[in-house]
Amino acid sequence: MTASVFCIANQKGGVGKTTTAVNLAAALAVHGQKVLLIDLDAQGNATMGSGIEKSQCVNTVYEMMIGRATAEESTVASENGGYDLIPANRDFAAAEIDLMNFQDRDTRLKDALGAVMEKYDFVLIDCPPSLSMVTVNALVAAHGVIIPMQCEYFALEGISDLINTIKRIRFNKNPDLTIIGLLRVMYDPRQTLQRQVSEQLKENFADRVFDTIVPRNVRLAEAPSYGEPGIVYDGSSRGAKAYRDFAAELLKRLGRKVKAKSRRAPAKSATKR
Ligand code: ATP
Ligand code: MG
Repeated sequence: MTASVFCIANQKGGVGKTTTAVNLAAALAVHGQKVLLIDLDAQGNATMGSGIEKSQCVNTVYEMMIGRATAEESTVASENGGYDLIPANRDFAAAEIDLMNFQDRDTRLKDALGAVMEKYDFVLIDCPPSLSMVTVNALVAAHGVIIPMQCEYFALEGISDLINTIKRIRFNKNPDLTIIGLLRVMYDPRQTLQRQVSEQLKENFADRVFDTIVPRNVRLAEAPSYGEPGIVYDGSSRGAKAYRDFAAELLKRLGRKVKAKSRRAPAKSATKR
C-alpha cells in the first residue's frame, strides 16, 4: 500500500483546519484505516489535540524537515486518537527561515516521507494559516487538498487565493495535486448569511463541495483541552457524527472500502518520550 496524502489547508486562521485534521484522522482510524497525521504548525494544536505534550517531544516535524531525524524517528503514537502523529512545537517557527538554506527547500517534506508512505492508508497534513514555504511543502507532498471553510462573507474571496496557489503548485511542482473538496464547518443553519454562502459555494464548486456539513458544536471545541479528538471525547455529539460521516463520504468518493478495525501496533518511537 502507498498512502494517499491529503493536506488540510486554508490560509485563513481559525477556520477549523486542525479540528478537521484531528477528527478526520481519528474517524478514518475508526473506519479501519491506518493514518499518519503530520502537524505542520508551530502552534502544535494538532499535537496537543492528539494527547501528545508538545514540549516533551524529542523529535518533531522540525527535526524531520531539516534532516536531523527520519520520519520514522519523528513518529509517535496517539493512543487517544488511534493514529500515528509527527508532532510540532514552537521550534517549528524557525523552519520557514531554515528551509531557505536548502536548495530542495520545497520538497523537503515529500522527500522525508518517502519510506513511511508504505505503512499507511492515509497521511494527513495539518497546515498553518499561511501560504508560506511550509504550506508549499505540504502542497508539493500531497495528492489532494481538503479545504475546511466557514460560510461567511469573505470566505469565497479567501479560497480563491488558495486555489490560485494550488494551480501554481500543480503547474510548477506537483501535476498530480487535486482539490479533493471543500468542507463546510462550524455551520449554523439558523443564520441566513451562512445558508446563502453555502448555496453560493454549491453553485461555484458543485460536487467539489462535500455533502457532509460539520455543525458548530461545543463538544468539538472542548475536546482539545482533554487531549482527545472530538469523536473520541464525545462520540455521541453532533460534531462527532459529522466527522464520522465526513470520513465515510471521503472513503466513498475515493472508492475505498471501510475496513474492520484492526488492532494497531503503536509507532516505535512512542516509547522514546
Ligand atoms: P489556525 O489557523 O490557528 O491553525 P484552525 O484553522 O486550525 O486555526 P481550529 O483550531 O480547528 O482552526 O478551530 C478554531 C477554533 O474553533 C478552535 O477553538 C476550535 O475548537 C473551534 N472549532 C472548530 N471547529 C468547530 C466546530 N465545528 N464547532 C465549534 N467550535 C469549533
Ligand atoms: Mg490549526
